[in-house]
Amino acid sequence: METVEIFDSPGKGRGLKATKEFWAGDVVFSEQSIAAVVFDSLAERICHSCFRRQDKLQRCGQCKFSHYCDRTCQRAGWAEHKQECAAIKAYGKAPNESIRLVARIMWRLDKDGSKVSDMQLTTLDELEDHLTDMPEDELKEFKVDIHNFLDYWPRNSKQHTIDVISHIFGVINCNGFTVSDQRGLQAVGVGLFPNLCLVNHDCWPNCTVILNHGKIELRALGKIAEGEELTVAYVDYINLSEERRRLLKVQYFFDCTCEHCTKHIKDDIKMGGREEDGVKPTEEQVKEATDFCYQMLEKMDQARLKGDYHEVVKICRETIEKTEPVLADSHIYLMRMWSTMSEVQAYLQYFEDAAEYSRKMVEGYMKIYPQNNAALGMAAMRAGVNHWQAGKIEVGHSMICKAYAILMITHGPTHPITKDLEEMRIQTEMELRMFKENEYVYYSMREAALKNRPMTMMHEPKSVEEGIKNLFHRKK
Ligand SMILES: [Zn+2]
Ligand SMILES: [Zn+2]
Ligand SMILES: [Zn+2]
Repeated sequence: METVEIFDSPGKGRGLKATKEFWAGDVVFSEQSIAAVVFDSLAERICHSCFRRQDKLQRCGQCKFSHYCDRTCQRAGWAEHKQECAAIKAYGKAPNESIRLVARIMWRLDKDGSKVSDMQLTTLDELEDHLTDMPEDELKEFKVDIHNFLDYWPRNSKQHTIDVISHIFGVINCNGFTVSDQRGLQAVGVGLFPNLCLVNHDCWPNCTVILNHGKIELRALGKIAEGEELTVAYVDYINLSEERRRLLKVQYFFDCTCEHCTKHIKDDIKMGGREEDGVKPTEEQVKEATDFCYQMLEKMDQARLKGDYHEVVKICRETIEKTEPVLADSHIYLMRMWSTMSEVQAYLQYFEDAAEYSRKMVEGYMKIYPQNNAALGMAAMRAGVNHWQAGKIEVGHSMICKAYAILMITHGPTHPITKDLEEMRIQTEMELRMFKENEYVYYSMREAALKNRPMTMMHEPKSVEEGIKNLFHRKK
C-alpha cells in the first residue's frame, strides 16, 4: 500500500493519511474482506458466496443452511464454508451472524496468519475492541454470544483463549461494515475490512466508501493534499449535530469534535422555519409544526410496516399540507415526509406526485449535504426516474445527469448503478433532443419505449437509501 500510511491523529488515535495527492473520484485504496456473512434474516434469499439477491437459490446439501446461486458460486465459496459447514452440522443449527462472522475470521486467521495479505496495514490484535466501554446490558448479550461460540467452535479447530475470542467479537462490534447486494440498494450482510477500520470519522469527510464487485473502495470526494488525514462519515450528516454526537458515542465510543459538531453547522436549517417575502413564522409555530411532523412520522412508519400504502399517502398528505407553509424546505422531518411520499406514489404509479416530492427532496438535500454525497446522488437518480415516468423529460434528464456526475465520484464508473445511470443519461438525452424537435414524435416514441422496457426503480417502498446510509454495521 503506497497511497496511505498509518499515523497518530491528534485526539483520535491511529488514523490513515494520504502519501500522495488525490482528486475527486480517485480510489485511495480497495480491499477485500477478511470474512463476511449474510444476515440471519436473509440467509435463504442471498447467495452466501457472491452476496447477490436471487429468486431461486440452491441449498448446501450438507448443512442445509448456506444458499448459492449455482454450483459455480458454491465452489467459489467452499474454502470459506468448508469448516463452517461441518460446524453447523455438528452444532445442529446455524448460530447468529456475529458468531458466524467471528468463526469465519478465526478460521481465516488460523489458515493465513494475522496478515492475510501484504496489502493489510494492521493486524486484528491492534484494532480497538472497546470492550471496557461497553454498557452492562450490551456486555450481557456479548457473553451469551461468546458462550454459544464456544459450543459451536469445533474441537478439531485450533483452540483460542476467551480473551482472544472476546477481542474479535469486540472488533466486529465496532468495525463491522455493511455488505450490500450487487446494486448497493439493500444491506444483506456484514464483513470485516481491516484497512477500512483505520479510517477515522469526520461529519464532513474527504472520502466515501462503497462496495463494488465484492471489494470496498475508499474514494476521494474532492482534492486531498499529501499528508492530509483520510476520513469517512460513520453516521449520516442529515442528523442534527447533537444526534450525530449521541450516535457516535453509543456506537463508536468517542466524542466528535469536528467543526460541524462544535459549531452546530446547518442545525438551524434542518429544524428551521420557512421564510416567505422576509416574513418568518414564530418560534412557537415552528416548534408546533415540528412536533406534529414528528408524531406523524411515527404513525407513517407504522402504516408503512403494515404495507398500508394508501394510509401512508393520507398521513403524508395531511402532514405536508399542514406543515409545509411553516417549515423550511430543508427541514429534516418534512423532507422525510416528501421522501416517503415520492417513494410510495412511485410504487402506486402516481408519477406526477412522485416527481414533485422527489424534486423537493433533492433541493432540500442540496442545502444540507456536501456536493458529492451518495445519498444526494441516489435521491437525484430517483427524482430523475420519477420525472421521466411522469413525462417530464427536461427535468428528468437534468436530474439523471446530476445523479450521474455524483455517482461517478462516489461509486465510480464500473459500479452497476453508475452503469444504469449512464444508460439512462444516453436515453433521456436522445428523448430530450426528440422532444425539442417534435413533441408529437417524442410522445409516441415514449409510449412505445414504456411498453418495451420500462425504466423503473419500482421495488416495495422501504427506503432505497437505507443500504447506503448505514454503511457501518451496528447491532440495533
Ligand atoms: Zn452467487
Ligand atoms: Zn454447508
Ligand atoms: Zn462531528
